[in-house]
Amino acid sequence: MKNRLAGFVQNRPDGVIAEVEGDSESIRRFSADIIRSLPPLAEIVSMNSSEVPLCGEREFRVASSGSSSRTDVHIAPDICICDECLKELFDPQNRRYRYPFINCTNCGPRLTIIKDIPYDRISTSMSCFAMCPDCRREYNNPDDRRFHAEPIACPACGPSLRLLDRDGNDISGVDPIREAINLLLKGRILAIKGLGGFHLSADASNDSAIEGLRSRKFREEKPLAVMVKDIRQAAYLAEVDGEEERLLLSAQRPIVLLRKKKGDLISRHIAPGVPDLGIMLPYTPLHYLLLEGAFRALVMTSANKVDEPICIGNREAVERLRGIADFFLVHDRDILVRCDDSVSFVSEGRQGMIRRSRGYAPKPILLNKRLPDVLALGSHMKNTICCTKGSYAFLSPHIGDMETPQARDFFHENISLMQRIAQCRPELFACDSHPEYYSSKAASDLSGGNAVRVQHHHAHVVSCMAENRISGQVIGLAMDGTGYGPDGKAWGSEFLIADEAEFIRAGHFGYFPLPGGEKAIREPWRTAVSLLKRAFGNGWQEYAAGLRLGPEGTDYDLMDRIIELKINTPQACGLGRIFDGVASILGLRRRVSFEGQAAMELEAMGRNGAVRSYPFEVGCEKDVLVIDFSPAIREITMDALRNVSRHEIAASFHFTLSIAIFAIANRIRKKTGLNRAVLSGGCFQNRTLLESCIRVMKENGFEVFRHRIVPANDGGISLGQAVSAAARTAVC
Ligand code: ZN
Ligand code: ZN
Ligand code: FE
Repeated sequence: MKNRLAGFVQNRPDGVIAEVEGDSESIRRFSADIIRSLPPLAEIVSMNSSEVPLCGEREFRVASSGSSSRTDVHIAPDICICDECLKELFDPQNRRYRYPFINCTNCGPRLTIIKDIPYDRISTSMSCFAMCPDCRREYNNPDDRRFHAEPIACPACGPSLRLLDRDGNDISGVDPIREAINLLLKGRILAIKGLGGFHLSADASNDSAIEGLRSRKFREEKPLAVMVKDIRQAAYLAEVDGEEERLLLSAQRPIVLLRKKKGDLISRHIAPGVPDLGIMLPYTPLHYLLLEGAFRALVMTSANKVDEPICIGNREAVERLRGIADFFLVHDRDILVRCDDSVSFVSEGRQGMIRRSRGYAPKPILLNKRLPDVLALGSHMKNTICCTKGSYAFLSPHIGDMETPQARDFFHENISLMQRIAQCRPELFACDSHPEYYSSKAASDLSGGNAVRVQHHHAHVVSCMAENRISGQVIGLAMDGTGYGPDGKAWGSEFLIADEAEFIRAGHFGYFPLPGGEKAIREPWRTAVSLLKRAFGNGWQEYAAGLRLGPEGTDYDLMDRIIELKINTPQACGLGRIFDGVASILGLRRRVSFEGQAAMELEAMGRNGAVRSYPFEVGCEKDVLVIDFSPAIREITMDALRNVSRHEIAASFHFTLSIAIFAIANRIRKKTGLNRAVLSGGCFQNRTLLESCIRVMKENGFEVFRHRIVPANDGGISLGQAVSAAARTAVC
């Protein structure tokens, strides 16, 4: 014992207890050391100490666990290879030299290899590999770094790599890694089996390879993430500040959205039209070996077709990626749980999350109170589900959009998996209030028609409250795309006076028609038409024509009639749609190939430009404040027609939104005395808007809460649903 102390340490169901005796200085150092020398997978949730009578202990021992039950032990997320394993990987003297499945208790796969709980080798996909005597010795030795490392393996006994051709036939007689590197350098597209699924990989500097990948994957414009060898290489491609560097290097190894540096440093087809580049560092030993190749960066994008979940099985990959991948780099350690890469960003020096999955799920989120067991089934897009147990909320890995049968299967797999992981026996089921969502119907089936329906934007706000461990009434700002409103209209720019159980709608942006309904989301010019009609009234067509809003030959009079007659034209007020419309007025794009594309480009435009505030008006309809944004739309249109710099217009638009949002929040504050503002909803992924809102609100004395590890988008909805359902039931 380094600190010359005696006593014992014991693992108990409710935590670790250490009893030590010695001089007070040693004891003080001991507690400081615990915090400093925490293994990478461990985290201290709370720590208490108290004095007990001396019992004259002479030695320090590890006491056996207080109970044989291990059911309370949480399943850890998959994390990146640790420094010690990395050293061994490149040490020619080590018996695991260049072995792509090297791992230890501090690193490697966890969630993605589990079949069942508790987490023992027998319940993982490693169960079919019998340990060799060397591995077994390490596994059984309490002083070894691999003591009870369930996925322990070595070249003698563990999984191995194979390279397959496009039809799934073995390519024998080659070193799979060397050959994979050669093929990538030649511009081929490889499907590579990773931790939570397959990646499609290509040399990021090779234009024709990237174009090929895009056309084969039908992913025409959505940015592709890249993996680079180290932090230096990341800083070569993008701006990396302190917190971003910490995040890139963290054991979770998320994709971090970074500002691209100028110039075509890698293929311009990687992230066209957007200022950010998603970069991650290698996280498996295999990645480190592959990045020995002379690549500036490798594209590493989830291997799936549009809207389908990520591939995990070898045969499944060969089937589903037929015609996309030229070769497959596979291995025989099965992936049992799909888990995409997480995507994050840094704003105001703090982490924000776009997709919370590998590295984070299923690590529970600590709540500020104990809840009954709840199963919440999330939203329709970017779906995740959430189970609560005691004061923990377990968010599932990213499931995605619930459009395809594959996504729905994945959703059901997760429902059973997450209940087992959380040991959750649901007393309550929660879902979105949209009756047609697949997840809402599933909740209704599971609960026998008794699911608690939580309004979409209320769930957004409660999700942010839960993450920040706050309760009581707040001013909730849910700035979003669209979500089901109790009045049958599409809500999405909500100012709520809310606690966890209930909300009052205190304000929103004025409604506008969405000609074509869902179609307007894919074709933002339709929303622009609607905003212009509202802003200019009769004669709006002239402005639309001047801006060349619709595609060649658009009949604006016909559009006018469609809106007047309300033909497939629902009413909406989502801020995301206003972003679409303004992007279209600025001529950024008529159509988008993925949701949020126009808004992302508008954000990019607005990052640096001189700002002014456009005018808007605030009205009141039956006690609800309504922002009339038409004056702003009129001036934006005039500016666009006068060829004012689009950067300036975009920057001013963002600034105006933050002023408008503050103005409404401030009126609600005056009326209610509430001073806590909670920011949620997909629009707060927009860093320009997020930062500008926080600045204005804080300057004016608001206490502002934002998301950090839970996505502000619909990926965070299930957490809010669970907490709200529990609160509502407690009230009744
Ligand atoms: Zn390790
Ligand atoms: Zn072995
Ligand atoms: Fe939403």
